[in-house]
Amino acid sequence: MNKELIDQLISIRRQLHQFPELGYQEYKTAELISGELKKRRIDHKTGIAKTGIVATLKKGEGPCVVLRADMDALPMQEETGLPFASTREHVMHACGHDVHTTMLLGAASLLQTKDFNGTIKLVFQPSEEGTNNDPENKSGGQRVMESGELEGARAAVARRTRWRAPSRAANATMPTTIPASTSERNAATP
Ligand SMILES: [Zn+2]
Repeated sequence: MNKELIDQLISIRRQLHQFPELGYQEYKTAELISGELKKRRIDHKTGIAKTGIVATLKKGEGPCVVLRADMDALPMQEETGLPFASTREHVMHACGHDVHTTMLLGAASLLQTKDFNGTIKLVFQPSEEGTNNDPENKSGGQRVMESGELEGARAAVARRTRWRAPSRAANATMPTTIPASTSERNAATP
């Protein structure tokens, strides 16, 4: 990955981190993602599952594969003291969705210049953390599936980061650490 792309991704991640939004309210997040996709001339549809985005990279008639990231933040108070800490009270990217979204934009940039035979759908999924007042009590994942956008896909891949950041649940007094997953990062990393 070249230095220019790395710098772009660090900047995107920090912007996302500073302006976290809860499930189905990811309007600014969607705007930022859509802007980045436009800059890269990648076709995409907005408003999927309310605030989600599905972008498509198609090269040839081969099979369709889905890469997915989640967009929403958690109702938590950030206490990292980082220069790019959340600017919003009691809302924080404490679960790494800012990183997941950034990684998917990075993958889009890299895949765009690679040869492959098929279609890659890049799914930016809203409301992963729950149903967040959805009138039908549906999560973002459920709504994306119901949108029909992923019809015919052979496989779907997602990745999670692990996050250890000083934070507090919105209604808790004890510091907390977000649990588990496949890899680990630190609040101080880009
Ligand atoms: Zn999460």
